[in-house]
Amino acid sequence: MKVIVLGAGVVGTATAYFLARHGVEVEVVERQPGAALETSFGNGGVIHASEVEPWSQPGMPLKVLKWLGQENAPLLVRYGALPKMWQWGLKFMANCTEERFRRNTLVNLRLALHSLAMLQKIRAETDIDYDLRTHGVLKIYTNAQSLRSGIATAKFLSGSGLTFAEADVAECVRRVPALQATAGSLVGGIYFPRDEIGDCHKFTTALAKRCAELGVTFHYGTTVQNLERGSNGITAVVTSRGVMRADRFVVAMGSFSALLLKQVGIRVPIYPVKGVTITVPGQAWPDRPSLPVIDDGRIFGLVPLGDRMRVSGSAEVASYDTTPSPARCQAILNNVVSVFPDFARCVDPATVKYWAGVRPVTPSGTPILGRAPIANLFIAAGHGHLGWTMGCGSGEVMAALVTGNAASIDTSGFALADH
Ligand SMILES: Cc1cc2nc3c(=O)[nH]c(=O)nc-3n(C[C@H](O)[C@H](O)[C@H](O)COP(=O)(O)OP(=O)(O)OC[C@H]3O[C@@H](n4cnc5c(N)ncnc54)[C@H](O)[C@@H]3O)c2cc1C
Repeated sequence: MKVIVLGAGVVGTATAYFLARHGVEVEVVERQPGAALETSFGNGGVIHASEVEPWSQPGMPLKVLKWLGQENAPLLVRYGALPKMWQWGLKFMANCTEERFRRNTLVNLRLALHSLAMLQKIRAETDIDYDLRTHGVLKIYTNAQSLRSGIATAKFLSGSGLTFAEADVAECVRRVPALQATAGSLVGGIYFPRDEIGDCHKFTTALAKRCAELGVTFHYGTTVQNLERGSNGITAVVTSRGVMRADRFVVAMGSFSALLLKQVGIRVPIYPVKGVTITVPGQAWPDRPSLPVIDDGRIFGLVPLGDRMRVSGSAEVASYDTTPSPARCQAILNNVVSVFPDFARCVDPATVKYWAGVRPVTPSGTPILGRAPIANLFIAAGHGHLGWTMGCGSGEVMAALVTGNAASIDTSGFALADH
């Protein structure tokens, strides 16, 4: 059997890896000159089963309305994007009930925990070096009500396998001494010992090399233009470098999956939501945290990646544009410096790197993994803010589904029909 995977982000590359391990002939088509050069390039770097709650949650529609047009809003919907996304928006609102939120959160947790196990398996099989740290993540809070709600969610998820420990302010400072300067603004935190961090781009490029050693062919610099359809399904993919044939096809093009699938009459509710990261050399801050910190109130993540520090934050619905907005980058920097004043020492205009990517977000906040309504076509996309967390598990599940084997986790909730 020959399978063509479309897209070499973390999801497509992990799919290719597990397919190759099944003994399948695999080709990957990718428009960039290498793997993981779009959304999987500069993401926040956190593998966090602790962060599986979808953005579609009770109370969110009102918040989004309140934030409309506000440059420093945590989730900013630009007016210009509204006409193109209203159908997606209605579905998003339908998923904001307590019941759907709980269901979607558990669906994500199931995949996130499986994915962590698959990432660890790949690590054991390949010895890939990607600035890995396995000491957990500390989430800090400035608001007592938000902390209570965070603990309640963690308790709820602990029934399905999430591990966590409550941390009072002194414990937060013990774990991250750099918090001492602003400890007065904190009400406490939650420590998630099984969360990990690592550079998704480094991991994915190394995994692509490993795939090539297993016989996978990568067609880089090759843009997918369309799918050719015959009476029994998809016969070929039309690319900028010619027509490529296979028995089965997996669409793993992140936010762009929806545009391709629309051409063959399949509507997939995935919309791009832009986010930015800021990466700086860490040496100027010798006492920088060695543990990643997620600030719940000021909505940023501060993550040590090797000798760099990466800050992530911000969600902006602005179509497919990936230009980092200076105003939003500055707002994130201001938030980080308000908690970690010494971070400012690392921000040198000569070395700071601003990056933006588009998260492929579904209205339910859960990814689409499985068959398309065309027999030999499969979809692995829509991982939103959790693609690094859920990428390896998605690859393993997809390889099982494409080869007709039973998936190793319950796949209910992932089918296109569930979205
Ligand atoms: C600011 C930010 C921070 C984030 N932080 C985290 C985090 O800390 N933890 C986490 O778990 N997730 C995080 N995410 C989410 C995560 O990065 C994504 O969910 C994940 O990268 C999606 O992977 P993917 O393989 O589906 O898509 P992509 O990485 O976008 O891969 C799709 C590939 O398809 C290719 N492609 C698209 N169209 C075509 C075409 N026509 N022809 C050929 N190739 C094509 C693209 O070039 C790309 O390489 C973050 C995202 C952002 C934006």
